[in-house]
Amino acid sequence: MTHVLVTGGAGYIGSHACKALRDAGFTPVTFDNLETGWQDAVKFGPFVQGDLMDRAAIDAAFAQYQPVAVMHFAALGQVGESMKLPGKYWRNNVMGSLNLIEAAVAAECENFVFSSTCATYGDQDNVVLDEDSAQHPINAYGASKRAIEDILIDFEAAFGLRHVIFRYFNVAGADPDGEVGEFHQPETHLIPLMLDAIAGKRDALTVFGTDYDTPDGTCIRDYVHVCDLVDAHVLGLKWLQDGKGSRVFNLGTGTGFSVREVIDHSRAVTNKAVPYTDGDRRPGDCTKLVSGSTRAEAELGWTPDRSTLETMITDAWRWHQTGHYDK
Ligand code: UDP
Repeated sequence: MTHVLVTGGAGYIGSHACKALRDAGFTPVTFDNLETGWQDAVKFGPFVQGDLMDRAAIDAAFAQYQPVAVMHFAALGQVGESMKLPGKYWRNNVMGSLNLIEAAVAAECENFVFSSTCATYGDQDNVVLDEDSAQHPINAYGASKRAIEDILIDFEAAFGLRHVIFRYFNVAGADPDGEVGEFHQPETHLIPLMLDAIAGKRDALTVFGTDYDTPDGTCIRDYVHVCDLVDAHVLGLKWLQDGKGSRVFNLGTGTGFSVREVIDHSRAVTNKAVPYTDGDRRPGDCTKLVSGSTRAEAELGWTPDRSTLETMITDAWRWHQTGHYDK
């Protein structure tokens, strides 16, 4: 069996990645501390409950499964929280990743796929961001992810650990088969919060800022379907297995939508009113994050064909109605 060690495999993106890996013939081994993940999302391979701050636990997982690659999703990922508690983000994300990277080198595992973020670019005056754009993160979450990218570059130079870094834009949607989906506790992301508000499960959504320099005054984001996103990870793994060099890929669609446009699409998809109120800006938010994502399509052969806003909201709404949100 060809094992892949998937940190954060019990989380939203990691669990979808495990399904994609299983479907591609790999055996995903989930390594997760269950702090933000869910054990019942681990459906596609073995589970190791462990923490990335525990180097011995990581070494034991490498020894037991001899993975051919690592897919590293485990991280704290809330922009707002990272502004209030930067130490928590630097400690957990950077030190945990350093443990994992050192363990991979010690175990002679040669392929490392890393989940990074468009938040590493920061706010750049409404430009479309390609992989060569300068990285000036404006929040501790983005800064911690950029630091991990730097670690990977140094470890390739020193030890030959090759990497593919994916910088995600805004991930949305759910497995169309309904086996896994998005569930964060607490939830901070726009689309699941909006669906909760539509379903009457929480108060009205607050639109964070209506005075941005955008056509309707609300922030613009580039949304990508989680299934398309994880398909790119499998392509990235194969890229490394083919012996190709380390590479950075943006994963977005190149099209941005404002918060108001997402509200309008949600109303159309669900055929229900979206309760919302206009509020203040959220510290750490960039005005506009839109991907120049042609590299992944050209070089990996990636086709993000589920990443229309309609499909993402439709799949998220279907998952929402399965009742997983009522745990
Ligand atoms: N947003 C909002 N209200 C919310 C949550 C998010 O207006 O309750 C906005 C947020 O300011 C950003 C966009 O929706 O412009 C996407 O935010 P999310 O937290 O989903 O992802 P992020 O861009 O922070 O990774």
